[in-house]
Amino acid sequence: MSTFQAPKGTYDLIPPRSAVFLAVRDTIATQVRNAGYGYVETPGFEDVNLFARGVGESTDIVTKEMYTLTTKGGDQLALRPEGTASVLRAALQANLHKQGNLPVKLWYSGSYYRYERAQAGRYRHFSQVGAEAIGAEDPALDAELIILADQAYRALGLRQYRILLNSLGDKECRPVYREALQTFLRGLDLDEETLRRAEINPLRVLDDKRVDVQKQLVDAPLLRDYLCDACKAYHEQVRELITAAGVVFEDDLKLVRGLDYYTRTTFEFVHDGLGSQSAVGGGGRYDGLSEMIGGPALPSVGWALGVDRTVLALEAEGVTLDLPAPTSVFAVALGEEARRVLFGKVTELRRAGIAADFSFGGKGLKGSMKDANRSGARLTLVAGERDLAEGVVQLKDMESGEQRAVALDEVLEAVRAQLA
Ligand code: ATP
Ligand code: MG
Repeated sequence: MSTFQAPKGTYDLIPPRSAVFLAVRDTIATQVRNAGYGYVETPGFEDVNLFARGVGESTDIVTKEMYTLTTKGGDQLALRPEGTASVLRAALQANLHKQGNLPVKLWYSGSYYRYERAQAGRYRHFSQVGAEAIGAEDPALDAELIILADQAYRALGLRQYRILLNSLGDKECRPVYREALQTFLRGLDLDEETLRRAEINPLRVLDDKRVDVQKQLVDAPLLRDYLCDACKAYHEQVRELITAAGVVFEDDLKLVRGLDYYTRTTFEFVHDGLGSQSAVGGGGRYDGLSEMIGGPALPSVGWALGVDRTVLALEAEGVTLDLPAPTSVFAVALGEEARRVLFGKVTELRRAGIAADFSFGGKGLKGSMKDANRSGARLTLVAGERDLAEGVVQLKDMESGEQRAVALDEVLEAVRAQLA
């Protein structure tokens, strides 16, 4: 072991488990690409104020969880704690919204950083795949995103998750509700910090996970009873569209989520096998965010799915993904001449698009065959001096155990035929 360890709250992705992470990212990406979302990549850090304004001054993310730094040049930056503010910033900066093609649909995949209390499923460095549809107010977009996330989880083989859905209202009706909730919260027995939060962002108190707080919230006024007609109609359309798509969801009238910028549709995917870190993904509509960061009005909707927790959910359900073996052909060379010849064959196979690997390190037959087995390759090529003298290599099928001699210049064809 080295003197160094991965920092607290982080871990390394290493084979074979790392292959599952790639497959999760790929599966989610496949769904959104297939729905017209274009790939966007933004820097790992941004002006700290983008998040302070965009995520919200009173959120846990901004007050407690952000990694901030001052550069030698004096710039105040933060490692990105989430993706939406950055993606919207990038879209505005590139004027994507002015090209007459709204909504702008973008997806991303990357690392995010939050200084959290590290525990199972909660890390300080984690990975998300996200999708954002910018610049259109259309319940079909909200529905599309919920359906796509559901499709991604289904495609991975997950079953024990639930979709929680709520509407947070808009700038017409939310302020009225906010007042009512605040009045209610002032009458409760809450600690100083929570009371302060109730003054700044009372909806966030509904998100408090502590049992003694939740108990007191049983009779809290519900946003549903305050929704204006436009928000009600909008929400009803979203519900109808996802129902028609056969996606099952639960109305969760207390769902608020941790970021300030959400309006109207808000949703979370929770998995029942993950204990308290149960949210595998979430998102919603954020009609006011663009203006908060200095842009024009651009009603938008999006989600971010947590790759780490999705992998944990797969493990909790005992789902093993059907991952192809990374290597199809493994070459075992016995002796110097065989090394030269087989290394050449491996290169030839790779150039032909066949995944091939080689017995590096000058091991004997036994050690090399062990490597071949470990590689998961369907076929092995074995050659020693005697084979080469006859102008052949031995082609072995690792599943059936069958082995035959193949002429050196027919290896590619023979391998192709046998893999087909
Ligand atoms: P939580 O309530 O669990 O803190 P959140 O509301 O902060 O989640 P979002 O900001 O909506 O989460 O991020 C979307 C997804 O990213 C989450 O559903 C989760 O799967 C994942 N995620 C968020 N924070 C972490 C973390 N610290 N470690 C691992 N995954 C995370
Ligand atoms: Mg959080």
